[in-house]
Amino acid sequence: MHQTVQNLVNIQENINSNLSNQKNQKLPKIIAVSKTFGMDKILPLIEYGHLDYGENKVQEAIEKWSELKLSNNDIKLHLIGGLQTNKVKLAVQLFDYIHSVDSEKLAKKISDEQQKQKKKVRVFIQVNIGNESQKFGVDKLLVPELCAYCKTLDLEVVGLMCIPPFNEPSEIFFKEMSELNKKLNLEELSMGMSSDYLNAIKNSATYVRIGSNIFGERN
Ligand SMILES: *Cc1c(COP(=O)(O)O)cnc(C)c1O
Repeated sequence: MHQTVQNLVNIQENINSNLSNQKNQKLPKIIAVSKTFGMDKILPLIEYGHLDYGENKVQEAIEKWSELKLSNNDIKLHLIGGLQTNKVKLAVQLFDYIHSVDSEKLAKKISDEQQKQKKKVRVFIQVNIGNESQKFGVDKLLVPELCAYCKTLDLEVVGLMCIPPFNEPSEIFFKEMSELNKKLNLEELSMGMSSDYLNAIKNSATYVRIGSNIFGERN
């Protein structure tokens, strides 16, 4: 078995054994975060049948995934990085999910593009859960308002997403996210990375975004 596949299988087993005593929890999906890695590392996962992949840069994703997506309809691509409005058109063309909606302006632009392209993307609202000054994400107090605005646009918000502050235990942030998600009655919750995905799942994450644990360290 190729190393990346073995790594994915190990993570899956780790998740399964940690879920076993939590009833009714939906099996979380693993987004294999393939940013910076080449197809030599990604193809074995595709051949194995893994379907969800995450990229954080639109241009890099286009170069890596455009052709593959045409020949493999079941692959789901997730944009997990910040999105500038001038890249929205390309992002809507390529991605199935956008995890980084954090303003009305961006939401409106995505909605307009969807209509033009007659294509639906699903979006997550990114929450600045640690209240950090230099970070993407909407203030947690403004999340309900942004959610409601997206509904008026016919933009499908499936859930919330966060990247908690580095060097702080993420558990309290995950807990807060879970409560907020519940309050808003949202189905999906995108949180947890290589170092904290089990904690995220304990707090009801439905998508974990895992890069280095699958592909190795990034340069
Ligand atoms: C890179 C990245 C990840 C994956 O991080 P790892 O620590 O390598 O698992 C997850 N989420 C976002 C938003 C990222 O940019």
